[in-house]
Amino acid sequence: MKVVVLYSGGLDSTLALYITKEWNAKVFPLYISHKFLSLKNPPQAPDLKTIDVTKELINIIQNPQYGYGKALNPCVDCRILMLKKAKVYMKKIKADFIVTGEVLDQRPMSQRFDQLMLSDKAAGVEGMIVRPLSGGLLPPTIPEQKGLVDRNLLLKIRGRSRKFTLSLAQTMDLTSFSSPSGGCLLTDPGFCRRVADLMRSQEKIVVRDIELLKIGRLFRLSLETKLIVGRNEEENKCIENLLIPQDFFFYVPDTGSPNALLVGDKKYIKTAAAITVRYSDNKNENSIEVLYKHKGKTKKVRVKAVNNEELAKWRI
Ligand code: SF4
Repeated sequence: MKVVVLYSGGLDSTLALYITKEWNAKVFPLYISHKFLSLKNPPQAPDLKTIDVTKELINIIQNPQYGYGKALNPCVDCRILMLKKAKVYMKKIKADFIVTGEVLDQRPMSQRFDQLMLSDKAAGVEGMIVRPLSGGLLPPTIPEQKGLVDRNLLLKIRGRSRKFTLSLAQTMDLTSFSSPSGGCLLTDPGFCRRVADLMRSQEKIVVRDIELLKIGRLFRLSLETKLIVGRNEEENKCIENLLIPQDFFFYVPDTGSPNALLVGDKKYIKTAAAITVRYSDNKNENSIEVLYKHKGKTKKVRVKAVNNEELAKWRI
């Protein structure tokens, strides 16, 4: 039999993948990726298929049908989206059913009994999701009724404690899995302040906007204008990579300087330059030359660094 396994590289889905293999199934791990994840290294598994859902998730975050969790995490809608993607993949490769590593009552928003059933129904996969870690506590699925899965092999794990799953992983010699939260930034209050700011200031949000949210210090200068200032070499590089010709790109020449990116109104060029100087090695000078590039041309502006009170007004 062929089985699609929703796989994130975390403890639970790693266990689910290995348990499914023990049923003599041919497994097809499916990783649902998006730019709200902080994971630097995506999970690895033989035959892993990856689908990016960033665009769909952006739409969901702006208007989640089932609301948010503690931060701006629309987990129920997000899980439904994942199951829909798994369903399409299952049909495409003619798999028999889908496996997930969900544990009953582990997450208050998306893994309560009623939420699991709701997600399956909303995604059009009712009875087709086998949950090896908690399946013994859930209604029999179609694969069980068809004799493809032995119900006696389904575990009865419930709740937030990871003691049992961790010891299970030990007995199965599984040592390589990512953090339990899966690194989703939508559960991080600091990141969500940035997401909320973005949603307040623009209706159309694209993937680049999310990538910009993940780097630098962020300053909101007006409803249409924001400045991102790199905090280290890696972020300075990211800023350069994310530049588009309409942006204004700032740096202080011949000294330790961050890269800074202004998106929006050109009337904030001086302010942006003064903030860039604030984070350069020349922040104490009275008048400093800052270079900025825009639409292929490089220009100069002289400014003095902004002070901390001014900065505080704009910082997100
Ligand atoms: S934590 Fe993030 S990735 Fe996970 S279900 Fe919630 S919104 Fe989706």
